[in-house]
Formats: sequence, C-alpha cells, structure tokens
Amino acid sequence: MKGAGGQRAPGLFGLRAVSGWGLWRLRWGLIAYVLVIDLAALAGAVWALVEVPVEAGNLFPFIVLVICSVLYTEMSRPIEKLRERYSVTPHIDLQSVWMFAAVVTIHPALAAGVITASYFYRWLRVQRNPLYRRTFSTAATIVCGYLAVGFLSLVTGLPLAETTRDVPGFLALVGAGLLFLIVNTVTLTVAVYFGSPHVSLRTALGSFSDYSLEAATIGLGILLGWALDEWPVALLLIVGITLVLHRSVLVRQLREQARSDRKTGLLNAEAWADAARAELARGEQLKHSSGLLVLDLDFFKKVNDTHGHLAGDDVLRATAATLQAEVRAGDLVGRFGGEEFVVLLPNIGQAEAVAIAERIRRRVGATAVPLTQGGDGPADITVTVSIGVASHPKDASSLEALMQAADTALYQAKAAGRNRTLLYVAPDEGGLRAVG
Ligand code: GH3
Ligand code: MG
Ligand code: MG
Repeated sequence: MKGAGGQRAPGLFGLRAVSGWGLWRLRWGLIAYVLVIDLAALAGAVWALVEVPVEAGNLFPFIVLVICSVLYTEMSRPIEKLRERYSVTPHIDLQSVWMFAAVVTIHPALAAGVITASYFYRWLRVQRNPLYRRTFSTAATIVCGYLAVGFLSLVTGLPLAETTRDVPGFLALVGAGLLFLIVNTVTLTVAVYFGSPHVSLRTALGSFSDYSLEAATIGLGILLGWALDEWPVALLLIVGITLVLHRSVLVRQLREQARSDRKTGLLNAEAWADAARAELARGEQLKHSSGLLVLDLDFFKKVNDTHGHLAGDDVLRATAATLQAEVRAGDLVGRFGGEEFVVLLPNIGQAEAVAIAERIRRRVGATAVPLTQGGDGPADITVTVSIGVASHPKDASSLEALMQAADTALYQAKAAGRNRTLLYVAPDEGGLRAVG
C-alpha cells in the first residue's frame, strides 16, 4: 500500500502500512473525530445484525441497489473522472439515490453494505483518494443512515415498507431525508474544514445548488425505495432519470470548472479578464471607479526550493483563501499565473483600494501555513507579498493598460525591497507612491 507521502510502506502483515497512514498526519482532535465516526458506523452495523433479524425479502432490494450503484458508477465514469480532477470542494454526486433508498427500505447492516459498496466501487474505478478519507465519508454516511432510520422508527414506529401511506408517514420520511442531508453535510464539512487548513468555510460548505441537488437526490431515493417495495420495474425510470440529471449537472459544473483555476479554485486568467472587462465597462456606465491589485509572492522560489512544490502549492491555496476572505463577495479574485494574483474591486476609490491592499498584505504576512506535505516535522511557512495598485478610470481606461500600470507599481515594490504596497501614480503626477 502506498502512504500519503508517496513512499512505499513495506512491513510485516501490513503493520508498517498502518503506521504510514495519512490519517496519523492529521491533528489529534481530527484523528479522534474520524475514528469515532468510523467506529460508530461499524458498531451500529454489528449491533443491528445482533438485534434485528435480517429478513430474506431484504436480499432482493439489497442486490438490486448494489447493482444500480455499480452500473451508475460505470456509466458516469468517463465524465466523473474529469470532474473529480478539478473539484476542490466536497464532491456531491447522485449516489444518495441508492444509498437513501437502502437506508429507508432494508436492514441497517445491509444498507451500510450498499453505502460501502457505492463509495468503494467509486474509489476503485473513479478516484483513489486517501483510503482514510473514503472510509470516513462512508462511515459518516452510514451513521447518518442510522440516524434517519432511528428518526423514522421513533416517529412512525415502522420502517418504510410498513410506513402508512398517509400524510404523517410522508412527513416522517421527508424529515428522515432532511436529517440525513443535514447531519451528513455537517459531519463532512467539519472534516474538510479542519482537515484542510486552506479551505475557507465558504468553500468547505459548498453552494446552495449543491444542496438542492442533494435534497432532490434523496427525494428520488425515497421514490426508489417505494418503487422497490411496490413496483420494482419502475426503478428503470428512476435509474434513467438519475443518469439524465447527472449529465445536466455535469454540464453546469464543467462550465464552471473551465472558468476556475484548478489549484486554488479562484478564477483563472481568462475568466478573470473577461469578468474584469465587463465590470470596468459597467463601472464606466455607472460612473464609479474601481481598484486593481496585482500581487506577487516574495521569494516564492525559495519556498519551493526549501519545502518542495507541494508545500508551495499549499501556500498558494492559503494565499487564495486569504484573498477571498479579505474582499467582498462581488470582488473578482483571480490567479494570473504561478504565484501572481489579481483582484478587481468595483466601486472602490483609490485610497480605499490601497487600504484593502495593505490589509491583504498584512494578512498574508501573518498567515502561517502548516507544513503538512513532506519535511521532517511540523513547521509553518510564512510568506510575504508585494502589491501594485492602480485605479480605474483614473490611471487607464482599458483593462490591459490598467494592468500595466498596476504591474509597474508592483515591479517598483519588488525593487524597493518587497513586502510592500505601491500605488501607481502617473509620471506627470510625480511617479509611484509608496504606501507600505
Ligand atoms: P520575487 O520576490 O522576485 O517574486 O521572487 P520569486 O522567487 O517569487 O519569483 P520568481 O518569478 O523567480 O519565481 C516564481 C516561482 O514560482 C518559480 C516557480 O517555480 C514557482 N511557481 C510557479 N507556479 C507554481 C505552482 O503552481 N506551484 C508551486 N509550488 N510553485 C510555482
Ligand atoms: Mg512572479
Ligand atoms: Mg514572486
């Protein structure tokens, strides 16, 4: 087995492999959290097997759901591989159809089996992320399934197959679905947020459309569970609907991903320039000014040389998160190239743009990025940034000329010793002005 650090971990009966697990690199609190959820999923399955008899009638839906999940993974595989490569945020797919149908129709231990098969088949065929993460996602979903089923039997006293087909029965099922969605979101977000120091809470949470999709998927799971029980052939319809939904979701996501930078999740250079041009045109119409910041990390090559490229990438992600955290939602933050970033601040005057640049510069300089990849032990990396500021339409009217102005200021900031902000001032106004 390969450890997260990339070294082969040999050893007796895989014992060295255990000590090489990426899990142990996490903080203690997070390791405990992951292990508690993993153990809860396992203990719940054992408990259910001991306490609740498995009925023979459960085997048919169990097998059908595993087959559906495997087929779905196979049919969506080519395009999914593409999507996983780009995604920085938690991955929401449509597998909850099969998983939630299993949760509400079959024995909890068998439902845990469907969930495990679904996650691990996908792990085998689509994306091999660290095993402990896949195990954790599986366990968290299983635990949420137990909670949903617990809620259902608490409210109705019965599983889906025996739930009365009336309004209270329906509301109980919807409640169970909501519980499943909310608890799963919270458990996964906690892990992503605390496990990846550079992911902002906004990114870790995902977007509203992700959750409406997940809610719809769980709703389909309820229908599928019902179909399995009443009219199994109707599941062909549900499989068809799920595949069509999957395609249209992917088209939207791939369009968004084509606009974003893979490493940091920021806008890429082309998408940023398109959006910035449109924003400057809008500013001209509305007669408001905009600020442009061009940022370049100082001595970044040294970070790579000292700590390696992976650590350098962590610093880039952390810087991206800082930038995003320090500006408003409508500001445009892009990665322009290697370790260069651009920020367009619409409806912002020159003095304010400089103040924002200074705030960003101080925040970047004060951010310690934990050294998680390679290296001899835990250590933090801090970097500084130099920033050039230009103002639209005062310094230039086109985006290209505005960038040139900010770039001139940046170049001077580097020459003047780095870790500073310089404001572009046209030569006829006395040239560049240092502000930090
Ligand atoms: P200066 O203060 O003058 O900007 O020095 P610098 O070392 O930051 O500047 P230089 O432009 O010489 O080096 C930029 C470095 O950024 C070189 C390159 O290896 C690194 N780099 C570019 N893109 C990436 C990336 O995606 N990941 C990592 N880790 N490094 C990158
Ligand atoms: Mg550079
Ligand atoms: Mg640099």
